[in-house]
Amino acid sequence: MACLPDFHFDNTFARDMEGFYTPSQPASAPAPHLLFLNQALAAELGLDVSALMGVDGADGAGGADGAALFAGNALPAGAEPLAQAYAGHQFGGFSPQLGDGRALLLGEVIDRQGQRRDIAFKGSGRTAYSRGGDGRASVGPMLREVLIGEAMHALGIPSTRALAVAATGEQVQREQPLPGAVLTRVAASHIRVGTFQFFSARNDLDRLRRLADYTIARHDPALSASPQPYLALLQAVAERQAALIAQWMNVGFIHGVMNTDNMTLSGETIDYGPCAFMEACDPTTVFSSIDRQGRYAYGNQPQIARWNLARLAEALLPLLSADADEAVTQATEVIDAFPEHYRRHLLRGQRSKLGLQRDDLADAALVDDWLSLLQVERVDFTLAWLHLADAAEGEAPLLRGLFSDARNLDAWLTRWQARCASEDGDAAEAASAGAQRARRMRSVNPRVIPRNHRVEEALQAASQQGDIGPFNRLLDALRRPYDKAEELAGYAEPAPAAVTAGYRTFCGT
Ligand code: AMP
Ligand code: MG
Repeated sequence: MACLPDFHFDNTFARDMEGFYTPSQPASAPAPHLLFLNQALAAELGLDVSALMGVDGADGAGGADGAALFAGNALPAGAEPLAQAYAGHQFGGFSPQLGDGRALLLGEVIDRQGQRRDIAFKGSGRTAYSRGGDGRASVGPMLREVLIGEAMHALGIPSTRALAVAATGEQVQREQPLPGAVLTRVAASHIRVGTFQFFSARNDLDRLRRLADYTIARHDPALSASPQPYLALLQAVAERQAALIAQWMNVGFIHGVMNTDNMTLSGETIDYGPCAFMEACDPTTVFSSIDRQGRYAYGNQPQIARWNLARLAEALLPLLSADADEAVTQATEVIDAFPEHYRRHLLRGQRSKLGLQRDDLADAALVDDWLSLLQVERVDFTLAWLHLADAAEGEAPLLRGLFSDARNLDAWLTRWQARCASEDGDAAEAASAGAQRARRMRSVNPRVIPRNHRVEEALQAASQQGDIGPFNRLLDALRRPYDKAEELAGYAEPAPAAVTAGYRTFCGT
């Protein structure tokens, strides 16, 4: 008899949103084995995981009950598994029928902070929305989702998070057979731009309104009192996305597949498929093997976010006003304001990355010129910001060492130092201000990000050699992105240029 923790599910989506999903059961796994259990997140959710942990419980992985639960063989009491319907624009083309083809929402849990969180499986078998797919996932990509999601969380970026990964003991057929796995994902909700598009494409106004009301109740309850709650919802979502994309850009994150079905209303990053972090600074950077036109390149992300929000706005039009022209005018205003909101969030983040605390009109030009310098020499984005913190203390050799010709850098540093001095007061204060600035900069400019070669090395060991050690060590490093500890030095190094040049990531594998 499995000993499963009580999740205390309270499933509003299953209860209130009939017609938005298809109930569905997870496939059973022949030989489940728990590869990863997120104990900190489990505690946040109020779960008693001791029963899941097995005897030694080392390294976060656990015993047979945890394996049975997280592979889908034994559902906890109160779970009401369902596959959600959604549509979506994929690489610009509209698919009216996507939906959870390999995912299941088990239910919702109120966490220790009182926040409602979805608990969902990914890779748990076929559903009504699987189309030609097998509903499965493999070990490598699911562990990848753990690594990147935990890195994003540690960087303070809103993200869905992995609670567990269980290997199923079954092979999934891709280009070659791969070990199968199920990821358990925790999200503020799984409502996507594509969820609205699904009902809008069917002209199902009733359900569209119910979905908007549900989303407001769940994510923006204060807006229900607004004179125009649906317009206010669009504004709130645009604001969250502006903040989110700015955070992505400030750490060099490339989502890789910003289809409208992969953009949440909650403002959390979702679906870590072909994502990767930029190393050499270059806005055209693309890693995804299927993104041949570079639609989702690093530098395009703000524009794509705006494009996706315009698709959300279109879906919401009939709710905005009975007068179609009036609805378009209102929606357009929100979408047109997005770039300005985005730039405001971006610049706020950039200022703190530069060690600045006050606003100055010339800051946007200062930071743009800095980024141009990095781009011209294809300097490592993360290391450049990190070593700029040393320069705040008058130590520029590491930073200068990133450039083959440091003359332009030196000219820029002079400008930046003058700008810093404008905040520092007299000479006596300035001396300690440098150290304080460097400390502040090191708390916002990460040292450890998921470097592509490190991620691949960890996933290969786990997936091909059954060795979870490199994954666990990398995960530990990613959870301490600002830590100066000597043992993390190897995780701070860029990949060899040849590795990055040939690096390709894959979708939906
Ligand atoms: P993604 O690229 O992971 O965001 O997935 C896009 C769509 O394809 C979603 O509707 C997924 O549910 C579906 N999908 C991806 N992989 C599979 C699979 N192996 N089996 C069934 N559906 C899948
Ligand atoms: Mg998706």
